[in-house]
Amino acid sequence: MKRLLSLLITIAVLGVGIILSTVLYLMAKSEFEQQLENQANNVHHQVQQRFRIFDELLANDEKEIQEHARRTLLRLSDIVLNKDFNSKDWTSSRLQQLSKAHHVDAIYIVDPSTTVVATNFTPDLNFKLGTISDTFNNYLKGLYGSGRLEVDRINVSSKTGLIKIYAYYAPVGSDYILEVSYDVKNYLSRNRSSRYVDFMFGDFFTEMTKTNPLLEKVDIYLVNNYAAFPFLNSTKAIDNKDLPEIPERGVKTIEQSKNIIHHYSRADFNRSNLHSAEYLAIRSTFNLAPMNYLMHKFLGISLIVVVLVLGLAFFLVAFLFDRWILRRIFRIITALERSADGDYRDQLQSDRMDELGLISQHINSMNSRISARDEQLQEARLNLEQRVEARTLDLQQEVEARKKAEEQLILLAETDPLTGVLNRRAFAERAETELERAQRYKRPLAVIILDLDLFKQINDRFGHLCGDRVLVEFANLIKPCLRAIDSLSRHGGEEFLILLPETDELEASQLAERLRKRISECEMYSDKGSFKVTASFGVATWQGDEEDIQATIHRADQALYRAKHSGRNRVVTYCPKSCSLTLEE
Ligand code: GH3
Ligand code: MG
Ligand code: MG
Repeated sequence: MKRLLSLLITIAVLGVGIILSTVLYLMAKSEFEQQLENQANNVHHQVQQRFRIFDELLANDEKEIQEHARRTLLRLSDIVLNKDFNSKDWTSSRLQQLSKAHHVDAIYIVDPSTTVVATNFTPDLNFKLGTISDTFNNYLKGLYGSGRLEVDRINVSSKTGLIKIYAYYAPVGSDYILEVSYDVKNYLSRNRSSRYVDFMFGDFFTEMTKTNPLLEKVDIYLVNNYAAFPFLNSTKAIDNKDLPEIPERGVKTIEQSKNIIHHYSRADFNRSNLHSAEYLAIRSTFNLAPMNYLMHKFLGISLIVVVLVLGLAFFLVAFLFDRWILRRIFRIITALERSADGDYRDQLQSDRMDELGLISQHINSMNSRISARDEQLQEARLNLEQRVEARTLDLQQEVEARKKAEEQLILLAETDPLTGVLNRRAFAERAETELERAQRYKRPLAVIILDLDLFKQINDRFGHLCGDRVLVEFANLIKPCLRAIDSLSRHGGEEFLILLPETDELEASQLAERLRKRISECEMYSDKGSFKVTASFGVATWQGDEEDIQATIHRADQALYRAKHSGRNRVVTYCPKSCSLTLEE
């Protein structure tokens, strides 16, 4: 963000610098152009003024030339237009000699059709003067034979552009007009100092170029319908078509090149109503090279100054912006990052009550609140964990207690509380399961029923409690002799049942016998002394077609009955006929 901002501001500084400099430059240029136009107007105005002064200054000279012309024309008329006059006699060279002799520049002999039939100014030979203009034509026509001698004021030669004075004489009785011309400058060169002539036809009009450093040249052209003739003789005549369209009033500006500018204006030159120049074209040439150099220098310096000032301002603003805004924003960002990572301890400086100060304050209070909530949350979590732990412990204990109770219940439901062997109900369930298995796999299954002999007497003799102990001891003697798959149960009182899967009659009888022997050999103890017990056994096996075990038990019971009646302490295997088979010691 900081880099982007710097880049944007740098671009803005350069942009504003360039725009400001350009605006200043354009303003200065426009002001300068206006000044230049004013100067040009001024120059042109001065030239016009000087022409008027030029006219005044030449007034005396003009008068002198006019006097000379009058005198000379009369004398020449006597020489040329005499009674033997023949235009052909007056060759150019002859007239030239005559001109020199009489101090005129040229002599013209004009015939009735206004044509110059003889002259020493050869360009005008055979030229029809009437074609110059209708006014001039009418003027000449009115002159023939009138005896008038007329001298023009200063005029311009229509073919050379030279400043001239023309004089005309039309003697009475002659069809011809005799004309003489004076090149004013030549005349003055002959009769005045050269400094005077140079000043009048030079410095007088161009001296402003010396005081204006940008004004390089002033040219004045006498324009008629033939050409534009240079008045100051400094340049060649130029074609009218090469002159730009100059407005009646004001100045026309033409940029010749980047540095050279021409200003054209027009001034009247209506010295006579005859064949004068149409107008004066004034051209001032300004060379702007030094000015353009200065302008470019000004542009460069102003650009540098503007960029420097703006750059300085930018660095100052950047410095203050960094100090007052960016650094604080970065601190806020860092604090927010820490908060995002779960560290809410940061407290930002918020002594300045601006927008960033307010943000800092809110972040601080937010952090404080989150921190307090965090602590509360931690405490609550700890509490909860402890409670869950305690509760889990309770539950575990409860589950264990229940499990024990359940086991106890199962035990109680399935076992005999005194001896710990299966009760009748549990025995019935086991017997049913084993019977199903024996049926399915066609396996043998045997039952032994056994009854303590004369137990009533033991009770009577040693007490009921002792009887209970005998019952417990009796069961404990039997249990180790059985397999895991065998089931021992208390059938009632002092009578027990043993279910023997996978056991045939012989094996059951042998087991019963081993048990009988073991019991009879065992010594019982009471507080009245030791004694021995015996038991009687009835053995029966399950017959494959029987649906339940009851018949088998019943048969074993019948065998037991037989054992009791046969003298007790014996094993009797059920025999359908008599059940009298006994295995005695
Ligand atoms: P026999 O040899 O014919 O079996 O004679 P007996 O005395 O063992 O048989 P009898 O049926 O006459 O007597 C059984 C006695 O067993 C009666 C009763 O008091 C006693 N008895 C039954 N159950 C318990 C008991 O749980 N504890 C004690 N101590 N005696 C019991
Ligand atoms: Mg009994
Ligand atoms: Mg008994």
